[in-house]
Amino acid sequence: MINASNGSFRVAIIGAGASGIATAVYLARAGIAYTIFERADDVGGTWRDNTYPGLACDVPSHLYRYSFAPNAEWSHEYSPAAEIHAYFRRVADELGVLENVRLSSEVTRAQFVGEGMWRITTVKGDEGLFNAVVAATGVLHKPVLPEIEGRDSFAGASFHSSRWDHSVPLAGRRVGIIGTGSTATQILPAIVDEVASVSLFQRTPQWIINVPNNPFSEAKKTAFRNEPQKMADLYEHLNNLFNERFAASLVGENAAGLAEMARACRQNLEDNVRDPDLRRRLTPSYQAGCKRLIVSDKFYPAIQRPNAHLVDTAIMRIEPAGVRTKDGLLHDLDVIVYATGFDPFTFFRPATIVGRNGVSLNERWKESCQAYRSVAVPDFPNLFFIGGPNSPIGNFSFLRTAEVQIGYVTQLIKLLAEGACREVEPTQQATDAFNSDVEQAIKHTVWVTGGCTSWYFDKQGKVVSWPWSYGRFEADLKQPRMEEFKVA
Ligand code: NAP
Repeated sequence: MINASNGSFRVAIIGAGASGIATAVYLARAGIAYTIFERADDVGGTWRDNTYPGLACDVPSHLYRYSFAPNAEWSHEYSPAAEIHAYFRRVADELGVLENVRLSSEVTRAQFVGEGMWRITTVKGDEGLFNAVVAATGVLHKPVLPEIEGRDSFAGASFHSSRWDHSVPLAGRRVGIIGTGSTATQILPAIVDEVASVSLFQRTPQWIINVPNNPFSEAKKTAFRNEPQKMADLYEHLNNLFNERFAASLVGENAAGLAEMARACRQNLEDNVRDPDLRRRLTPSYQAGCKRLIVSDKFYPAIQRPNAHLVDTAIMRIEPAGVRTKDGLLHDLDVIVYATGFDPFTFFRPATIVGRNGVSLNERWKESCQAYRSVAVPDFPNLFFIGGPNSPIGNFSFLRTAEVQIGYVTQLIKLLAEGACREVEPTQQATDAFNSDVEQAIKHTVWVTGGCTSWYFDKQGKVVSWPWSYGRFEADLKQPRMEEFKVA
């Protein structure tokens, strides 16, 4: 008998983004009551925050969807951001999640108070006690602005890509974009026709794979609607391609796949960048796959437009009139866009999480974030993470990753709800063993051997992705190994 049925057992979910919504759905299906606390005034997480021109998911739409909510209506193979945001809102609405979301309720503190209970405090005050907490706080939500001298002195408009200021007109203006990641390479082609000029400040070139983004015809959508099996088949095909074969090539388990990726990227450069000097400047010196691969058929044509300029001399400082590079040249600008990425190690922070005996997770994770199989931490009973440290990250569907973790965490929460135990947490020994296995395995991944730096590395120089195949991730998180947990 699940206590939730009499209304007493309740889970706090932190965050109403993609993984918070899915957690809610899984808990509801298990008959477990929950409340979601969301910092912002809308659901959708990263798809709410990012509204920059050109944003589309670089994971195919029919893979980037919940298992429980296939969607025949995707407009494109890689659908635009507004559509993805609308998808999450619709699913949350239709599956009854929205009514359990407290918006504008940023969690400031979660404190374990003993006997299996957590006290949650939000900006609005004390929210009471909960039997378990799921931190579904996302990975890329804290923008990073570069530490460049004079940044605040710029006289024009400037903003981070994830805080796009739509009140700033771009038409006919001189725009600078700093960064060459997935974000910058989507923005540039989207604005190049509108602006007077666009200068892309490149510190490191990127490998780019040429993939067109075709719209789905009405006939195709009708077929998906009438024969859902077609969508399921497509999902399986894409899952095999991205989550299995591609992921395996990154972790040293598909050398042929890695070589094929490198060949395709080089071919893309050779076929689509005419000027040999520009081609040279756009050629990375590290192995393809080391940084997150850029998926685009638009970037190379856009950077070759007469009003687009690749600036690969290092930035010296920012001045009121623009960006000065180390060769002494001043690049006059009206607008600067910082496409400089995110701090992926923020997790739940700036909230404070306090576990057993007053131990602070903020303190424990100050230098390096370590968890048990990406989902739990010793001394923090009944606290679970979706997208926690060592979750698989790369060009594959985070929604599938989240669902694997949620399925696992739901099994543990059910034990609590059914009264099998009051507290559950991983043992320190099992957590240490997991992390030491990670440390060994990571050495063989392209993130380490490929000769680049990226946001996958933490302050200690450790890579925090999943260092094995995706299949192993799914197998390891199919069912909790209870001998690796302490229960009380
Ligand atoms: P990113 O991949 O971290 O790229 C940041 C860029 O800024 C890099 O080119 C970096 O150069 C540059 N940079 C940082 N500090 C700099 C400085 N001080 N001076 C000059 N350049 C500087 O960030 P992102 O492009 O926002 O992408 C982050 C992640 O978001 C992606 O990897 C992906 O997971 C996700 N994303 C997904 C999609 C999607 O379609 N699904 C779209 C956008 C983003 P270095 O390379 O030299 O460090």
